[in-house]
Amino acid sequence: MITIDGSQGEGGGQIVRSSLALSLITGIPIRIENVRAGRKNPGLLRQHLTAFQAATQISNAQTHGAELGSKVVQFEPGTITPGRYRFSVGSAGSTTLVFQTVLPALMLVDGISHIEVEGGTHNPHAPPFDYLARVYFPLLRKLGANVEAGNCHPGFYPAGGGCFGAKVVGCPSLNRLELLDRGVLLHRRVRALVANLPIDIAERECRLIERRTNWDAKNFSREEIEGSVGAGNVVMIELEFEHLTELFIAFGKTGKRAERVANEVLRSALDYIDQDVPVGTYLADQLLLPMGLAAAQGQSCVFRTGPLSQHARTQIDVLMRFLKIKIVVQADAGAFLVRLRPP
Ligand code: AMP
Repeated sequence: MITIDGSQGEGGGQIVRSSLALSLITGIPIRIENVRAGRKNPGLLRQHLTAFQAATQISNAQTHGAELGSKVVQFEPGTITPGRYRFSVGSAGSTTLVFQTVLPALMLVDGISHIEVEGGTHNPHAPPFDYLARVYFPLLRKLGANVEAGNCHPGFYPAGGGCFGAKVVGCPSLNRLELLDRGVLLHRRVRALVANLPIDIAERECRLIERRTNWDAKNFSREEIEGSVGAGNVVMIELEFEHLTELFIAFGKTGKRAERVANEVLRSALDYIDQDVPVGTYLADQLLLPMGLAAAQGQSCVFRTGPLSQHARTQIDVLMRFLKIKIVVQADAGAFLVRLRPP
């Protein structure tokens, strides 16, 4: 059994989800202490509990502490069983983070899985559905995984009520992957979504970004989400390059002007463009796990990114507890190269 200190590094939910994902893959039982001790509201929240239950369900695991608020949990996986699963967060908690907990195991086990997750699909502090579909899954496919995003019905904080589906065809062996530059810019897309709010908000958001950038008007869309249980507004900027796509998001909320939302997402996108590295801050911490799995199978991977976030550094520490791989971070002309190698 591996004991993980959930207060280490960034001390949040990612340590729990990544430890579960790696326990599923290696078969090593885990005990996590001080769960989310680095957060204002420590212990398992609905999203983490759903991730824990999802991991339990796909592997018929033996567990202790699977309760809301738990600060110590134990997990001993059985056999991973691909198949048809539906997980429900039961709040606006992030569906994409729940999915990322079970995805690595399902993408490596022989068999087909159809997964549906209910809850929030576009949440602050989590990858939005579009990020999985447009940024993350295409890179996993380059790594050799076989994962497709299905339909998404958006659900926003605080009401939730969204869902998305994905199909995973298990493929036991991964490829090497190098992400050293972006390649040429192919497309820019700007989408402003509103649910149960005036479409004028989306209009103003698009107008501000159009005015500040002169990007082609035909790449902007304003969308009204039908049948949402609550109100919501997000703006996403997608930048599709030859070698990868990156996606940035900002959220509207009561009392926050549409122009501020638009400026916020545009700043993130322009900062990324200026930085001239392929892998953005969030992608860096999310690529480490699948690339670590490829390295454990003997396939060296490398990516170029900006300064590593606390999330990424903690992710490296968690990976090193489970996998016999080498991870080397090297300064490179104002950026960083992260190399993941077999031992
Ligand atoms: P945690 O805070 O430990 O629950 O982890 C949050 C996860 O969500 C990390 O993997 C982040 O990279 C990811 N994340 C947060 N915000 C975004 C965003 N705007 N786009 C993509 N991923 C995000």
